[in-house]
Amino acid sequence: MSDSNNNSFKGDTKYVHAGMQPDPTTGAIMTPIYQTSTYIQSSPEVHKGYDYSRAGNPTRTALENACAEIENGKYALIFSSGVAATDAVIKLLKPGDEVIAANDMYGGTYRLFSKIFEKFGVKFWYADMKDSNNVAKLINQNTKLIWLETPTNPLMNIVDIAAITKLAQPNKIIVCVDNTFASPYLQNPLDLGADIVMHSSTKYLSGHSDVIQGCLVMKDKPLYDDLYFIQKTSGAVPGPFDCFLVLRGIKTLHVRMQKHCENGEKIANYLRTNNKVAKVYWPGFEDHPNHAIAKKQMRGFGGMISFELIDENPEELKRIVSSTKIISLAESLGGVESLINHPATMTHASIPREERIKNGLKDSLIRLSIGIEDADDLMKDLQQALG
Ligand SMILES: *Cc1c(COP(=O)(O)O)cnc(C)c1O
Repeated sequence: MSDSNNNSFKGDTKYVHAGMQPDPTTGAIMTPIYQTSTYIQSSPEVHKGYDYSRAGNPTRTALENACAEIENGKYALIFSSGVAATDAVIKLLKPGDEVIAANDMYGGTYRLFSKIFEKFGVKFWYADMKDSNNVAKLINQNTKLIWLETPTNPLMNIVDIAAITKLAQPNKIIVCVDNTFASPYLQNPLDLGADIVMHSSTKYLSGHSDVIQGCLVMKDKPLYDDLYFIQKTSGAVPGPFDCFLVLRGIKTLHVRMQKHCENGEKIANYLRTNNKVAKVYWPGFEDHPNHAIAKKQMRGFGGMISFELIDENPEELKRIVSSTKIISLAESLGGVESLINHPATMTHASIPREERIKNGLKDSLIRLSIGIEDADDLMKDLQQALG
């Protein structure tokens, strides 16, 4: 990361050009939407590299190349959703294998692990990964995978990716980082020793709240071959039009992320001055836990912010999240428009309340995905909603 630490965003060109090759038949600058299920073969097994669109599609290939490039990987696989990408990673495992996962992560990931895969005999441990010693303590000879998110959703906890990969490597444990919150523009886990990067491309990669998609990026060919086999066999592939949309989104990722970071900083600082707000979670604050690690492994702090209200009355909370005018009440994040969300009843409702509270996720927590609107308009909107 050394050349990218001091906010020198030298790689902007790659977001515009990654994975793109003019169409060989027409010169079309954008990769066409190859809306086809199959491909004509001149004789059995003689074809132009594609035989069936579950196995591969040229629009998807262009996006795979783009995702591999912007995450500093060699290979990428695109899935029909973020959780489908996660699902494929867990299918690398077999009964008896153990996974160490974060105790503060996307609710749907927790649901997939606990409600689907546990019953197939995979064992999941949940650790507070802010301190990598908590991960070290859980490692044994059955540990096959460490799954982490940083910054975490929704408490914005920072996990030291390099410290975790150092623990994993001697034990041949795969480390997969859900990099959805940071996006490749702010953080590249493969450079820090991770084996797989996962994205819900639904969020910042697409950036326009118009598609559901996921991706995995890696450097290792055997790992890629295994995951490709799982994808082809289980079939959670995206359609070509959705691939086209994400390809288009990536072209402006750097510009959008710059504005998300700029607005995020302004709104986080504003919220700290508001007397209705008890606590603000944003990794850019110098007193945020593990801020120094965030500074080391990220190039900016993003536009995701959570905050707690002083007044814990649920009616007051409901009133506030329902009364913003520019900021929409909705699940999801990472789009150009700002969103407000109540994790306890919306994105994280699938985590039992007792678990949530134990992990520090209070009922009075509100999460913001700060978009790329004018920061002053967003502040005014929050001001009127907070009352
Ligand atoms: C949204 C999200 C997911 C799940 O992705 P989908 O595209 O909704 O399936 C996983 N991890 C994080 C951090 C997310 O925000």
